[in-house]
Amino acid sequence: MNKGTLLISLDFELFWGVQDCHTYEDYGDNVIGGRKAIPQLLELFKEHGIHASWATVGMMFAENKDEIVSFSPSEDLRPSFDNSALSGYRVLNHIGDNEQEEPYFYGKSLIDLIAGYPHQEIASHTYSHYYAREAGQTYDEFDADLKAAKNISVAKGYDVKTLVFPRNQSKKEYESAITNNGYLAFRGEEEDWIHKIPINIVKRMFRLADSYLNLTGSATYSIENFKSGELHNFRGSRFLRPYNHSLRFFESLKIKRVKGQMKKAAKKGRIFHLWWHPHNIGINTEKNLKNIKEILDYYDELKNKYGMESKNMLELAEEINNS
Ligand SMILES: [Zn+2]
Repeated sequence: MNKGTLLISLDFELFWGVQDCHTYEDYGDNVIGGRKAIPQLLELFKEHGIHASWATVGMMFAENKDEIVSFSPSEDLRPSFDNSALSGYRVLNHIGDNEQEEPYFYGKSLIDLIAGYPHQEIASHTYSHYYAREAGQTYDEFDADLKAAKNISVAKGYDVKTLVFPRNQSKKEYESAITNNGYLAFRGEEEDWIHKIPINIVKRMFRLADSYLNLTGSATYSIENFKSGELHNFRGSRFLRPYNHSLRFFESLKIKRVKGQMKKAAKKGRIFHLWWHPHNIGINTEKNLKNIKEILDYYDELKNKYGMESKNMLELAEEINNS
C-alpha cells in the first residue's frame, strides 16, 4: 500500500495578493509580520523534516521596478479585468523601487532564504497575482502572465515548475497554457459540496464551520488517480485558517479537524494537502506558530506509526512522472 503524504503549499504573495482589497493601514502589519514569521516557519519545517512549496508571485523576484516592467508582458497582453482594481499593474506607479524601500511588494531576499532551506520548492503564484476566473481577461493574457513568471524565475536562478492559482481560481480551459509553459502541476480548488454552493455568503459560512467541524470528510485523495506525464491537479484539502481571537475557544477544534484529515491520509495511504499564506500568520504569530507546531508534532507521530511522508508539489509530480 502507498504511504500517506502530507503536502504543504504556501501562497507567497506579500501585498500583491491583497492590493485590491486592503491598504497598508489595515493589512500592512500582516504582510510585514508575515515576512518576519518566515524564518521561524522555515526553522520549524527543518526541525520536522517538512518539504513545502512556496508559490511565489513572479513580480517578487524582481530587484527593482525596471525589472518588474522588463519581465512584464507587453501592455496589450496584461490582464484586462472588467474590475481594473484587480490588476497588479495598477500599483506600479505608486510603489518604491526596491525591497528596502518597499518590503510590501519585493521579496527576493526571502525567496533566497527559503530556497536555502532543505526540501523547499520555489513555485509560482503567477506573475502578477492573476485571477483566471475574473471577467474581462483572456486565455492569451493568462498565457503571457505564466510565461513572464517562468522567465523571471529562470533569470534569477530558479525554475518554477508548479503553480497555485490566485484565490484558487483554477480553470479547466486554461490548463493547456500551464502545460505549454512548462509547469507540471497545480493546486486546484477543494471539490466538496460546500464549494458548489452558488451563494457566496452561505458558502463562506459553511466553509468556516467546516474548519471546525467535520462537514465534508477528509478531502484526501489517492496517488493512483494520477498518470505520468499529465498535468497534475493536487487539490487543496484544507486551508489552515489564522488564529481567530473571537473564536479562540474553538482553536483546538480547528486543529483537531486538521489532524483528523491527516490521520485519514496516513492510515489509508492518501494525500492530504494543507495550505495557507505567510501573511495569515503575520499577526498573532506566536499563537499561529504554536498551532502549526502542534500539526507538525502530529505529523511526526503519523510518520512513526504509519510511515507518512512530507512532500512538496514538485517532488510529488516528479514521483508520479517517473513511475
Ligand atoms: Zn494569492
